[in-house]
Amino acid sequence: MSNTRTSATQRTDFAAKLLAWYQRWARPLPWRDTNDPYAIWVSEAMLQQTRVETVIPFYHRFLNRFPTIQDLAAAPEEAVLKSWEGLGYYRRARLLQQGARDVLTRFNGKLPADPDLLKSIPGIGPYMAGALASIAFNIPIPAIDGNVIRVVTRILTWEEEARTARSLQVIHHWIMEQFPTDAAREFTQSLMELGALICLPKKPRCLHCPVQSNCQAAGNVPERYPTKKIAREIPSERRIILRIQWNEKHLLVRRPETGLLAGLWEYPNIAAKLNEDALTLGARWTHDQLGRILEFRFISTMTQVFTHRRWDLEIYAAEWKENQAPRTPPNSDWFLQTEEAALPRVAFVRRLQSETK
Ligand code: SF4
Repeated sequence: MSNTRTSATQRTDFAAKLLAWYQRWARPLPWRDTNDPYAIWVSEAMLQQTRVETVIPFYHRFLNRFPTIQDLAAAPEEAVLKSWEGLGYYRRARLLQQGARDVLTRFNGKLPADPDLLKSIPGIGPYMAGALASIAFNIPIPAIDGNVIRVVTRILTWEEEARTARSLQVIHHWIMEQFPTDAAREFTQSLMELGALICLPKKPRCLHCPVQSNCQAAGNVPERYPTKKIAREIPSERRIILRIQWNEKHLLVRRPETGLLAGLWEYPNIAAKLNEDALTLGARWTHDQLGRILEFRFISTMTQVFTHRRWDLEIYAAEWKENQAPRTPPNSDWFLQTEEAALPRVAFVRRLQSETK
């Protein structure tokens, strides 16, 4: 059975070993050079679901473009989405801006240090509140992400499914017991760093681990932890994508303000049943939206994966050759390639454009 309790001596010993390792081996990441809560907030928003190496150039560019909470709050949403283009999960950018506007209104433009107040800001959940409270304000509040869950469930050989409320409570409680005095900032980052560099999902590097002697899973198949929920397959949707050209321009449609990929631009995108004929769907769409039936030809297939669903895309192309200009459907416009590149676009549109350059 797992032992989740720690004596005071073990506690000091654990934190001291981890902090010494962190000082020696931590990666020099740009958000570790600052105590500016806003910059740390931006980095945490970007790092959700995205690798560190990918985030670094976006982080610099974003802070150059929006150096303060005030700048971000005042910017047009489209400019924020454009700065985020390529990072994916655009909801994070939108929530970050909503959060900045909320901080401006309710907290006079300064992020509060209190974790409960932090959690009341759009886009800041329990993890981010812990990360900001501890990393930006040096308050001992755990920030429990996937890396930290892995490290702690291995140290404790915690057998239960890791992401239940009860398991998260045990992990939270255990971390609270380990916090060293006056070094919450470094301790939180060191636990995350241990998960990122040493306590890897596959083949953890236990022989190089500074807390090996504190870990109940070391030498005992640590890969078994954390215990996962049985994965269910994500549903897939068949999508017919229409790339319609008129002179040098293509038709792009802006997605609705709410929901999946809200506000981003894409080519006309039709949900299709498996037995529906793509060419018929394309012809019907152009008849209804542009006033003429166009004949499409098949170009390629692509996949776009989201957290809870997958799009199986079939791409078709057609050209408007009439002398008379086509209609422009609602929330759409015709763009030259250079104009198109300046829009915040759905990933498959960017991929298609770069492949057909
Ligand atoms: S000893 Fe191994 S399993 Fe335990 S925390 Fe270190 S790397 Fe992870």
